Amino acid sequence: MLPTLPAKNVFPHTALVNGQGHLVIGGCDTLDLAADFGTPLYVFDEQTLRDICRAYLREFRARYPKTQVIYAAKAFSNQALTRLLAEEGLGMDVVSGGEMALAKAGGMPLPQVYFHGNNKSPQELADALDWGVGRIVVDSFHELGLLEHLTERAGKTQDILIRVSPGVDPHTHAKIATGILDSKFGFSIATGDAEKAVRQALGSSRLRLLGLHCHIGSQLFEVEPYQEAIRITLSFAAQMREYGLKLAEFGAGGGFGIAYLRGQRPPTIAQYADALVGTLKGGLQDLSLGEPAFVIEPGRSIVGPAGVALYTVGARKEIPGVRTYLSVDGGMGDNIRPALYEAQYEAFVANRMDAPATDVVTIAGKFCESGDVLVKDAALAPSQPGDLIALPAAGAYCIPMASNYNMAPKPAIVMVKDGKARLIRRRETYQDMMAADVG
Ligand SMILES: *Cc1c(COP(=O)(O)O)cnc(C)c1O
Repeated sequence: MLPTLPAKNVFPHTALVNGQGHLVIGGCDTLDLAADFGTPLYVFDEQTLRDICRAYLREFRARYPKTQVIYAAKAFSNQALTRLLAEEGLGMDVVSGGEMALAKAGGMPLPQVYFHGNNKSPQELADALDWGVGRIVVDSFHELGLLEHLTERAGKTQDILIRVSPGVDPHTHAKIATGILDSKFGFSIATGDAEKAVRQALGSSRLRLLGLHCHIGSQLFEVEPYQEAIRITLSFAAQMREYGLKLAEFGAGGGFGIAYLRGQRPPTIAQYADALVGTLKGGLQDLSLGEPAFVIEPGRSIVGPAGVALYTVGARKEIPGVRTYLSVDGGMGDNIRPALYEAQYEAFVANRMDAPATDVVTIAGKFCESGDVLVKDAALAPSQPGDLIALPAAGAYCIPMASNYNMAPKPAIVMVKDGKARLIRRRETYQDMMAADVG
């Protein structure tokens, strides 16, 4: 019998511990991955990615067939992942020209692309029109004006949604709450801006207002804030009928929570689907709003659980009576989340998964900031320099926020499946980092 995998809830679906006590993902021994590709290394499990995509489509469409699942690219994307998502039948939510270019390069059908963002530039909007992006989700009067001008100039019409801010507190970290009144995102329903925006959009001959969108925050463990946001937005949609709004599409955003720590049990996809679709159907019926397409935009919850970061142990500093620092070869350059919003992770010695966690250390990165700590007071198996540290649930919002601080090359990324590892992004070189320098 193989040793058991501790904290199974934070690992990819295929993770296991082999007879040597090594962490295995997608049939690949993580020690082999580290030896072949170096560290820091981000490992994505293809099976987990596909399982989660399919679960979203299955669970939501079983309850509401007209559901679209649009992956929020900002959580992490590259061309290989984009192709996988397109294969699975997901669309893509992009928030910049760069992400739009990535969607295009990765073979995502442009009609399946939703363009979000609170300050899209004229060039980005012109490109979106030019490339045939499916929906532009309008976030400000400035943008509405730009779009009216650009569609007129190009002689085109464009499908749009209006992003409203329903004024709901999602009970998450303040830096990832987006649907409250005091937010830079969306038109507030409460202040009357949303109504004004709807009327302006309906008055435009070149913009086709298909419906409304809201996204209230990220890493939400409660379903009630979604339900409240859906009720508020639908009732606003019903009021806007008087100006001619026909709700053909309604987006409830993403933000579905994942487990980072061993005790955490976020709602399952089926539970989210039950809660959201239940409220949606009830609201549509009560308000006689028909049967619009329903759009959800999971980001973190698709890639987060599929990714594991691997680091190599280096220096150890013991400060008697205070704490012990264990330094690894990555840190805030590839994962700024702990420094940015006190994000917490579990950590494991990947080559000693079967050993008891009798050592308590603070896992520090190698970057020149005291705040460069990945995990405070982690209980780990005793380790030595050269051992491998695994940080599970590292698939979302790590790589996309990576920087070259201290001129650190960004890590390599591999996709694993059935014992095979495929490089989907090579490690940056020093040359890469200097390539854009001029003179
Ligand atoms: C970030 C974002 C999402 C995805 O959020 P997750 O927490 O990663 O699921 C969805 N929709 C919009 C508009 C976003 O900005």
